[in-house]
Amino acid sequence: MSDGPDELIGGLAAIFAHPDDESFGCAGALALAHDAGRVTRLLVATKGEAGMPEGGPPEGSFGDVRERELVTAAQTIGLDEVTILEGYADGGLAEASFAQLVDDIAEWLASRRPDAVITFGSHGVTGHPDHVVIGSAVRWAVERLAEVGRAPNAVYVVSPVFGPGPNRYDLSPEEQGATHRVEVTPVAERKVAALEAHASQSDTAEEIAALRSAIEAGLPIYEGYTRVRPAVPAPHPKFDARIW
Ligand SMILES: [Zn+2]
Repeated sequence: MSDGPDELIGGLAAIFAHPDDESFGCAGALALAHDAGRVTRLLVATKGEAGMPEGGPPEGSFGDVRERELVTAAQTIGLDEVTILEGYADGGLAEASFAQLVDDIAEWLASRRPDAVITFGSHGVTGHPDHVVIGSAVRWAVERLAEVGRAPNAVYVVSPVFGPGPNRYDLSPEEQGATHRVEVTPVAERKVAALEAHASQSDTAEEIAALRSAIEAGLPIYEGYTRVRPAVPAPHPKFDARIW
């Protein structure tokens, strides 16, 4: 699936493994970038066909369910383009050809030239092998593009250390060491709606509840990111508030 303004380059791009990674990870930053007039894009490696609830439809058609959910989430966020790679199985990225995955990501990036890219860090937030592999492949793809002077200006990894919910993940050092804290309060309702669009996924409930209670309490809501390329020297003096 691919549709969108192919003639436009630049902007903010997110690259993840599954439908819903974008809504958990960076829906707020993407929505803010969209509202600021930036091109926003998402590349997802799989349809997420393995994340099937009990008693759900057969595996083949479930991928289509998740693709439709992703399209709804993308419309809520304000994404200009969503691409799902062909040929990769949910849960199977570690068994796929890493070189091919890097090729596919590099090709997508080379034709769109985003200014900044968001992906997973080295623990993939949850430790899911697909998350770890996609984050690594993105960084290889960016280095390949850098050799021909076409790397994005910045690569960020999701650092969910400011979420309203409990910090329930065993994060890697780079995912704990956020360099950027982006306030997404103005678009928090859209982040909730994007998570809700992934209706087949019951594990969104905790995040939705945490966001809702923060919104109702009038609390500021943040997303955290670590800029990994170019690296930010430690200790960074203060959080930056923009990622593009
Ligand atoms: Zn995922």
